[in-house]
Amino acid sequence: ATPTAVMVATGVGANNGVLIKGGDALERAQMVNCVVFDKTGTLTQGKATVTTAKVFTEMQRGDFLTLVASAEASSEHPLAKAILEYARHFHFFEEPSTTSNIQYPEKDPKYSGWLLDASEFCALPGRGIQCIINEKQVLVGNRSLLTESGVNIPTHAEKFVVELEESAKTGILVAYGSVFIGVLGVADSLKREAAVVVEALLKMGVTPVMVTGDNWRTAQAVAKEVGIHDVRAGVMPAEKADVIRSFQKNGRIVAMVGDGINDSPALAAADVGMAIGAGTDIAIEAADYVLMKSNLEDVITAIDLSRKTFSRIR
Ligand code: ADP
Ligand code: MG
Repeated sequence: ATPTAVMVATGVGANNGVLIKGGDALERAQMVNCVVFDKTGTLTQGKATVTTAKVFTEMQRGDFLTLVASAEASSEHPLAKAILEYARHFHFFEEPSTTSNIQYPEKDPKYSGWLLDASEFCALPGRGIQCIINEKQVLVGNRSLLTESGVNIPTHAEKFVVELEESAKTGILVAYGSVFIGVLGVADSLKREAAVVVEALLKMGVTPVMVTGDNWRTAQAVAKEVGIHDVRAGVMPAEKADVIRSFQKNGRIVAMVGDGINDSPALAAADVGMAIGAGTDIAIEAADYVLMKSNLEDVITAIDLSRKTFSRIR
């Protein structure tokens, strides 16, 4: 393609909300035969909502929610925000809400005033959080976080979590003083266009893949809904780039689509990194493309634009 054709294509991209960082990036996209999607915030809306809270001890429901919310108050994770929202609503109205359009009595970002003091807060990427409340350790996160700390998860609770996961929800487990106390179920719905985009990629001869830090069962359920067959679950933040490299070693030309801080090494490792515009600055910096409208259809737009720009000179 001539420099003019590249310039025109870059302009067409920009007009459609697809920012292309340079001619190389534009050229590489035509070769892509594998698109790896992050799950949370990329295929899904990234707006987690608590759908279930189940206490497995004598503890009152309100106390359970206050404890978990207090532990999560220092976390920036979307799951933490969903939990705080749910617990806060229960605290003020005694009934949990699953919608986020409620006017709260007080919009303090730290949700102060009703939370317990938590000390020694520590985020464990890809697993959850830990802290100390009332001199006891609180663990909130996935199974391995609890089991690796020696917390026993009773069979009936495990069964409850499996049921959540099979319906595409993430089970968040809670331990207090090394005793398992309850579970929260969190849902995050797919973006409306996700399934159509996956289908279009398959028609273009491009293999769609999902990568996520979430557990295998939830990932599998979401992948099934969206039509993706190749799923890499339980991938720790630092390992997402390794997933990209393993596809490249098998001769694939890989595009990575992601939104999170966790995704930036993978976006950089991919032949073509595409950041969701609504994503974090770090992801946007690491990417070759920015999808300003945060619409997955623009993955197709980007590949098409490159194919059209470069096919004419072959
Ligand atoms: P993803 O790759 O889907 O963006 P993450 O790597 O951020 O997911 O997290 C993976 C898993 O770790 C979550 O599904 C959850 O089980 C657990 N987790 C991470 N952060 C938290 C938190 N603040 N509270 C509870 N669980 C968490
Ligand atoms: Mg994400």
